Amino acid sequence: MTKYWGLAELKMSPLLEDRAAVSGELDQQEPNSGEFSTMAHDITKLKQAGAAFYASEARFRNVFEKAILGIAIANTAGTLLEANESMAQLLGFARQELIGMNIGMFTHPDDLVVENVYLREIQSGERDDYRMNKRYLTKQDSLIWVDLLVTAVPESNGDGIELIGLVVDITERLRFDAELRIAAIAFESHEGMILTDANAVILKVNKAFIRATGYSVDEAVGQTPKFLQSGRHSEAFYLEMKDTLHRTGGWQGEVWNRHKSGDVGPQWLTISTVFADDGAVTHYIGRHQDISERKKAEERIEELAFFDPLTGLPNRALLLDRLRQWKRTSGRSDRFCALLLIDLDNFRTLNDTLGHEVGDLLLKHVGLRLKACVRELDTTARLGGDEFVVILASLGTDEHDAAKCTEEIAGSILSALNQPYELNGVTHHSTASIGAILFKGTSIPVDDLMKQADLSMYKAKASGRNAFRFFDSAMEVAANERASLESDLRQALLEKQFLLHYQAQIVGNSRLLGAEVLVRWQHPRRGLVPPNDFIPFAEETGLILPLGLWVLETACQQLAKWATQPEMEHLTLAVNVSVRQFSQPDFVNQVITLLTTTGANPQRLKLELTESLLAHNVEGIIEKMFVLKAKGICFSLDDFGTGYSSLSYLKRMPLDQLKIDQSFVRDVLIDPNDAAIAKTIVALAQSLGLAVIAEGVETAAQRDFLANVGCHTYQGYFYSRPIPLEEFERFAQQSFLALCLTLI
Ligand code: C2E
Ligand code: MG
Ligand code: MG
Repeated sequence: MTKYWGLAELKMSPLLEDRAAVSGELDQQEPNSGEFSTMAHDITKLKQAGAAFYASEARFRNVFEKAILGIAIANTAGTLLEANESMAQLLGFARQELIGMNIGMFTHPDDLVVENVYLREIQSGERDDYRMNKRYLTKQDSLIWVDLLVTAVPESNGDGIELIGLVVDITERLRFDAELRIAAIAFESHEGMILTDANAVILKVNKAFIRATGYSVDEAVGQTPKFLQSGRHSEAFYLEMKDTLHRTGGWQGEVWNRHKSGDVGPQWLTISTVFADDGAVTHYIGRHQDISERKKAEERIEELAFFDPLTGLPNRALLLDRLRQWKRTSGRSDRFCALLLIDLDNFRTLNDTLGHEVGDLLLKHVGLRLKACVRELDTTARLGGDEFVVILASLGTDEHDAAKCTEEIAGSILSALNQPYELNGVTHHSTASIGAILFKGTSIPVDDLMKQADLSMYKAKASGRNAFRFFDSAMEVAANERASLESDLRQALLEKQFLLHYQAQIVGNSRLLGAEVLVRWQHPRRGLVPPNDFIPFAEETGLILPLGLWVLETACQQLAKWATQPEMEHLTLAVNVSVRQFSQPDFVNQVITLLTTTGANPQRLKLELTESLLAHNVEGIIEKMFVLKAKGICFSLDDFGTGYSSLSYLKRMPLDQLKIDQSFVRDVLIDPNDAAIAKTIVALAQSLGLAVIAEGVETAAQRDFLANVGCHTYQGYFYSRPIPLEEFERFAQQSFLALCLTLI
C-alpha cells in the first residue's frame, strides 16, 4: 500500500492541536520508530482527510514556516522549490539562496549516489518515499548528519509529483550514541566494574566483575558493595574511604575482597563519583583491578632481595637489618642478645669430592637443623658459602645467665650438626665451629660485632674444630697483631727482607747431595724470624705467592751460579712449595719461565710438596707434576707420614722421593711405633721405586737405625743446621775436598 507522509502531526508544531481536526483517528495510530515516529501517519488517511486540509492554505503555510525541523519541497530532479527557515538554518544558507539549488550541491557525494537511485525510483513510480541518514555540507563547510524523510506528493499546480523532504539534524544524537557505545565498551573492560546509584546500591556489573568475584549479575545487582568485604579492613578504613570520596570525588587503594568461594584476594580499587549538573551525586563507578599476581611478584622480589634462595633463610642484608633492630631493642629492654657465627668444618672438601649439588644439599640440611635449635623469636641466616649466623634474642638482663644460655644453645647446635647427613644416598659426617659474642645496645657497630664473632669462630677452628668459643678481648689483641703482621709482611716483600738458609742433604756417611732452602725473615725489629711464624699467615693471606716465587727464583739463580763451579755444579736444591702456590693456574708457566730466565738446570731442582696438596683437585695436581717432571724437575713428598696419602694417588704421582717426617725420626730409637712407621715408609718407597730421605736426623744412632732399615739419605742437625749461603758454600767445598781425598 502506498504511504504518504503528512505534516499534521509534527510534534513540535504549535499547530498540533489542530491535528484532531484533520483526523480524529490519527491519534490511535501506532507510532513508527525513529525521529519521525510520532510525526507521520499513513498517508492514505491523510488523503482521506482530503482537500479540506490542503484547502486550508494559510494553516499549511504556518506549519511549514514554524516547524522546527527542516522542510523543503523539491522537484523530482532534486532541485529545491521551497525551503522553510529551519531548513535554511540547518544548511547555513538564506532561504532565498536555497531556492533553485540542487540537493547535490549540499549533499555529501557518497550519500548522493544512494539518494539519486531513490530519486530515479520515484520518477519511475517504483516508490513513493524514501528515508535515509545522510550528510549535508553546510555553507560554512561543516558536515552535519540528518535523518531525511522524502515523500512524493501530487504537484500543487500540475499533474506531476513533487517531493516534500523533512529533515532532522541528528549530528548530536549520533555523537551521543557513539559516546554511549564507547562507554558501554569501556564498562565491559577486562577489569571488574560496578555502577552504583548515589546510595551505593549496585545497578550494573560487568562480565569481568562476574568472573573475578564468582557472583552472578542477579546476585550483585541490588546489593551494596559491602557484600564483597573480606573482614580484613577495619571500620576506620571504610570511613576514611567514604570521607575521601566525598571530599575529592574519588578514592583509590588496595582492598582485600572476598570471592564467592570464600577466597580472599587483593585488588586495586578505584572509585569515581558521577555528579549531576547541579553537583548532586548520581552514581559511583568502582573499578577493581586484580593485583594478586603483582603482589606475588612483589613478594618474590622481596624474597630474592632478602632471602637466600638455597636455604630460604634470611640473607646477609636481612640479617644486618635484624641485627640493627635487636641492638636497638636490647638497648631499650636492657636484655642481652647473642650473635653466633657458624662455619662448617671441611665443607670445601665435601664440595670438591662429592660435587656442588651434594654440598648444596648439606647446606639445606644445616639450615633446617639450625632453625630447629632456636626459638621462633631468634634469627637464623645464611651469610653465604658455609657460613651461617644466629641471633639469639632477649636472653635476659644478667650477663652471666645470657652467656650460659648462649653456650647451651651453641652446644645443642654443635651436636645437631654432628648428626650424620643422608646426602643423595651417601652418609656424610660434618662438624662446625661456632664463634659468639653477647651484645646489648647500640654502642658497638654492627660491623665490629660481626668481626668479633668471626674472630671467635676462627679461635674455635684453631682449637681443633667442632668447637664453640666466646669472644674475648685477647682475641682482638691477637687479631690486631695479625693485622700488623700482614702489613709488615707486605713491607718485607717490597724491601726484600727475606733470605734463604741452606740445609745440607747427605748420602751415606758424608757425601753432599745438595740442600733444602729454608726461608727466613730478617725483621727490622724482631730480628731473624723463623718460617713457622709467618709462612702459615702468608698462606692465609695469599702473600705466600709472591714470597714463594721469590724463593724459587733465588734458588734457580743460585743453581745457575753453581753450574759454573766444579765443586758445586752437581748440587741439587730442594724448594718447599705451598699448596696454594702449586694450585695457582699459572704455576707451571712461572717455573718454566724462571728456569729459562735464570738458566738453571731443571735436573738440579727438587720441589718439596706436602700431602695436603692431594686434598683438592688431584687430577689437576698430577697433570701439573707431569708437565714439570717432563722438564726434568724432581719431586719430593715432604713431611711424609703426617698427612693422609691414598696409596692409589701415590702410585699415580710422578714422585722421586719420600721424605720421612722429623717427628718419626726424633723418637725412632725410643718409640717402637715411630720405628715401625719409619721402617714402613722405607719399605713403601722401595716398593714404589722411590728414593727416601729422613729429615731431623740429629744423632749418629738415628742415622744408623735409618741406614739399617734401608734409608741412606739424610738431612738434620747431625750434619748441618740450615745456614746462610756463604757458610753453606764453605761446607760444600770442604765436603767436596773430603770426597776428592777419599778418591785419591
Ligand atoms: P720443612 O720443609 O719440613 O723443613 C724442615 C724443617 O725442619 C726446617 O725448619 C728445619 O730447620 C728443621 N730441621 C732440619 N733438621 C732438623 C733437626 O735435625 N732437628 C730439628 N729439630 N729440626 C730440624 P724451618 O726452617 O723452621 O722450616 C719450617 C717449615 O717452614 C719447613 O718445614 C717448611 O714447611 C716451611 N718453609 C720453610 N721455608 C719455606 C719456603 O721457602 N716456602 C714454603 N712454602 N715453606 C717453607
Ligand atoms: Mg721441606
Ligand atoms: Mg719437612
